[in-house]
Amino acid sequence: MPQARPATPDLDTDAPTAADRAAPTGFTGGVDLAAAGAVLTVDLGALAANYRLLRDMAGSECGAVVKADAYGIGMGPVAKALDTEGCRHFFVGHLAEGTALRAILPGAAIYVLNGVPPGAERAAAEADLIPALNSVEQIAAWRAAGKALGRRLPGALQFDTGMSRLGLPPGRIEALAAEQGALDGIDLRLVLSHLACADEPRHPANATQATLFARLAAHFPGVPRSLANSSGIFLGDLCRTDVARAGAALYGINPTPGAGNPMRQVVHVAAKVIQTGECTAGTGIGYGHDFLADRPMRLATISLGYADGWPRRARGAAFHRGVRLPFVGRVSMDSIVVDATPLPVGALRPGDLVEVICKNQTVDDVARLAGTIGYEILTGLGQRFHRRWLG
Ligand SMILES: *Cc1c(COP(=O)(O)O)cnc(C)c1O
Repeated sequence: MPQARPATPDLDTDAPTAADRAAPTGFTGGVDLAAAGAVLTVDLGALAANYRLLRDMAGSECGAVVKADAYGIGMGPVAKALDTEGCRHFFVGHLAEGTALRAILPGAAIYVLNGVPPGAERAAAEADLIPALNSVEQIAAWRAAGKALGRRLPGALQFDTGMSRLGLPPGRIEALAAEQGALDGIDLRLVLSHLACADEPRHPANATQATLFARLAAHFPGVPRSLANSSGIFLGDLCRTDVARAGAALYGINPTPGAGNPMRQVVHVAAKVIQTGECTAGTGIGYGHDFLADRPMRLATISLGYADGWPRRARGAAFHRGVRLPFVGRVSMDSIVVDATPLPVGALRPGDLVEVICKNQTVDDVARLAGTIGYEILTGLGQRFHRRWLG
C-alpha cells in the first residue's frame, strides 16, 4: 500500500509539531521547494533554546557570533530570533557582514572581529559598528576617523593572550595603558581575547590565557570583558567574564567534544530521491567503480553532492523513517547513490526526501566522517538548498 508521503523531511529530533511542518512561520528561501534537490531546515526554536542554555551556563551576558552568515545558516533569521531572546551583543567577522547586520538590527551592539580594513573606516563608523582594534595601526586609523567625523567612535580592544592570530600582544597593551591619551577619541566598549584550546578542558593554555587576560583587562577598569567562546562557556569560572561569545554551540555543534552534546540540533538536511533501481551482484557503482555490489541490491540516487558542501570523503548514510541507507560508491558533485535494500520494494519513489543531517547523523558525525570539524560542514553548506526556518 502506498503511504502518504511527507512533503517535508521528518524532523526526528526536538520534534517540531506537525503544525510547524504544515505551516512554517517565518521565512523560506533559497531555491523553490519544487525545484530544489535538497531541503535545509533551520529550527529556530532549537536555536533559541540553545541560546538560553548558553546564557544560563555563561552566568553573564551572552553575545552571539553570527559571522559567515551565521555559520552558513542564514544571518537574518538567526539574528532576529536571538534579538527576540534578548541578545544584545552580536559579533561578525567582516565589515560587510556588520553593515548587513546593521540593516537588520538597528539597535544592537555589532562587533567586527577582524577589525576595519584600511580605508573603510568611514563606512564602519556610518554603520555604527564596533571594530575589534587589533593593532596600533588600526587604533591610529580609528582615532583619525573619529577626529575627521568630529565624534568619539566605539571600539573594542582585542588582546592576543596566546592564540597568535589577532590582537595586540601583552607588551603593546601594557604600553598603551601606560601612555596618556593613547585611546583618546575612542569610546572603549569592550576588551576581548580568544581562547586557542577551549574545547580541550584540560589544556594548560586555558588557564594561562585566562590569567593573562584578567591581568591585561585590569588596566582598563570599568570596561566590559569578553573571553569565552562556546567551549569556553563550559570551562566554568575560569573563563567567566561580562560577555560570552557563543557561536558553534548556538547552531547545535557540540561544545564539549569529549562528552555528550548538551545542545539541541538546529540544522536538518534532507535530499530528494532522483531515481531508484536495482543491480545484480558484481555491478560497479559510481566513479572508479569504487563499490562493487556483492549481492543483488536496490539502489536510490539522491540529489546531494560535494557541490552542496557534503564532503566527498564523508561516506555516510541517508535515513528513511529511521532506516539507515548507506552510501555506496563515491560522492559525486550533484548526487550520491544509497543502498535502499533495507527498505521494502517501492518504499522510495522519486521526489521523496531522505534525511542526511538528522538525529541519526549529526553535523558533528558528518565532520568526523570527513576528518574535519562541524564548523567546516555548516559553513560549507551550499546555495542550492530550499531553505526553511521553523519556529
Ligand atoms: C568564531 C569566534 C567565536 C565563536 O567561537 P565558537 O567556537 O564558534 O563559539 C568567538 N570569538 C572569536 C574571536 C571568534 O573568532
